[in-house]
Amino acid sequence: MTTSTSPTSSSSPLAERLQAVRSGVADAARAAGRSPEELTTIVVTKFHPASLVRELAALGVRDVGENRHQEAQAKAEELADLDLTWHFVGQLQSKKARQVRRYASVIHSVDRLSLVDALRSEEADVDAFVQLNLTDDPERGGVADRDLEPLVEHVLATPGLRLLGVMAVAPLDEEPARAFERVRAASERVRSLAPEATSISAGMSQDYPEAIAAGATHLRIGTAITGNRPSLR
Ligand SMILES: *Cc1c(COP(=O)(O)O)cnc(C)c1O
Repeated sequence: MTTSTSPTSSSSPLAERLQAVRSGVADAARAAGRSPEELTTIVVTKFHPASLVRELAALGVRDVGENRHQEAQAKAEELADLDLTWHFVGQLQSKKARQVRRYASVIHSVDRLSLVDALRSEEADVDAFVQLNLTDDPERGGVADRDLEPLVEHVLATPGLRLLGVMAVAPLDEEPARAFERVRAASERVRSLAPEATSISAGMSQDYPEAIAAGATHLRIGTAITGNRPSLR
């Protein structure tokens, strides 16, 4: 047998964490009676350098997530030679919406009518999730439960957006499984308006098994794969 080592050999800590999450996702899927192939794992690389995203790409990662426009745009430009799908998962200011459309294939944080208007385009559709706010705090991002249907109807009526489904972040002070049951219920309401919008973006490093059990199709996993985020200071 020959031994080959590359800079991204399977023994690197990053490769090991990625492998551990991949197995965890597959286990949670099987435990829920689902096929791991139904799930898209997005590696959230915010605050990490483009070089880390390049290492992840060498390990087979195709879907990456970012939550701040400037950082995302810079990385997408620097890594334009890789065939990556960029997911925008953070709160999005309307004045940045057009720019985000240029590099992001999927926007997970559509949460208000004015943002939908800002994303309107006659160009190719961008995939979009409507983000739910599962807290009572309007600062958290996401649409309030009572405003879900009008927002969905506005997305459906706006050219340039293709609705995939709902997105949510589980609140810190609630059992993830309970929070994700609320997401599942919201997803059913959305599907009654848009039968194709079956996707659910939910599940992070600490709660992805519960999200998978509740029907998540798109997992947004950061630190469990990347390791701790470098601090901003
Ligand atoms: C940072 C972030 C994640 C990933 O969080 P981890 O706990 O590091 O897995 C997922 N979703 C959103 C919206 C984020 O901002």
